[in-house]
Amino acid sequence: MLFPDLHPPLTAQAAIPEANRCLFCFDAPCMQACPTHIDVPRFIKKIASGNLAGSARTILDANILGASCSRACPVEVLCEGACVLHRFNKQPIQIGRLQRFAMDALHASGAPLPFEPGPDIGRSVALIGAGPASLACAAELRRRGIRATLYDARPLPGGLNTYGVAEYKLPLVESLREIDMLAQLGVDFHFDTTIGAAQLKTLEAEHDAIFLGIGLGAIHQLGIPNEDLPGITDALDLIAGYKSGAITSIPHRVAVIGAGNTAIDAAIAAVRLGAQEVYIIYRRGPQQMSAFTFEYEHARREGVRFLWSLQPSAIHGTARVEAIELTPYESTGQPLTLETDLIILAIGQATHSDFLPNLCRERGRIVIDRVSGQTSNPKFFAGGDCTNGGREVVDAVADGKRAGIGIATWLSVQQEAHLG
Ligand code: SF4
Repeated sequence: MLFPDLHPPLTAQAAIPEANRCLFCFDAPCMQACPTHIDVPRFIKKIASGNLAGSARTILDANILGASCSRACPVEVLCEGACVLHRFNKQPIQIGRLQRFAMDALHASGAPLPFEPGPDIGRSVALIGAGPASLACAAELRRRGIRATLYDARPLPGGLNTYGVAEYKLPLVESLREIDMLAQLGVDFHFDTTIGAAQLKTLEAEHDAIFLGIGLGAIHQLGIPNEDLPGITDALDLIAGYKSGAITSIPHRVAVIGAGNTAIDAAIAAVRLGAQEVYIIYRRGPQQMSAFTFEYEHARREGVRFLWSLQPSAIHGTARVEAIELTPYESTGQPLTLETDLIILAIGQATHSDFLPNLCRERGRIVIDRVSGQTSNPKFFAGGDCTNGGREVVDAVADGKRAGIGIATWLSVQQEAHLG
């Protein structure tokens, strides 16, 4: 099922004047605000001069997932949030939509990825997970002539880009199209392959380094009575279901528990799938929610209603969910019963790093050197949600990129030590 785009594409008639509004700042703050440090004034200048292929190359040079990031990035708090035009009370440059314009033009042209794999240096890396961090890491490795083999438990690559970013931001087909292009670098994919402790040991023996881009595990449970009744799902399953077309309709009354960006995505998906009443329930107030303010405003515009300072205390129903009982959080007061047909859980994800060897972890997150991505075991590198607890796609890309360079540097130091 396709929903209208959140940020629709720019036409050429709109893109060129928009590009010409850019001041092409020296020390551009938009570039600093981008976790992958795309040279924003440079790619915009190339759009202004009609060099769309050059523009796409500038984007891809810094961010191999430049197409999906142009759609999924919270530009309001990153590059566009930093644009100097805010200081002059003007609208910021629409950097995300210009980036999408250049990337869409590259894809439409049918041109290949503007990079070649480097000459083979006889080294190989196994990457666990095929989400944005692993994809970005694999691209850096291939450009340096290092073999990259990705393993993913799911049948398709892309991780959250394919399965977890809301359809109206990044359709599944766009995620796969971008990865098809990246595969031109000679990345080797193994799908439907779950890596446990035993398989990891084998991979460790077969490869020169391991990259862990394993993301996070299942969404937390509420831990209240009747949580096993039919009519309860988790936000990521709902989003994956409607992105793949497996879910095409939804009950009328929906309660989403949690107030992060995933909760907002799930609530908006419920509205667009036809729900009549969608509530987001959060135990604290609007100031404490982790969703971005612009996402909150967007949800309100879509008709989502918010219930603050309430936490679920019981679920009622016989054959399936009929109502949820909500109790005031950190205050006294009467419980409230909200009739609902579907409860969507979006209260954060657990980590799933128990199968890993003895790597240093903090609260389940793998501890890495932030420059190289190296873990406490020098042969293991990591990046993305399993190291930061769940941030943006562009943060995962930046992590993967750093780790790819970090692995290549570590391998060459190993080689020199061996020769010396
Ligand atoms: Fe252009 Fe704004 Fe970036 Fe300056 S800060 S280069 S005006 S997009």
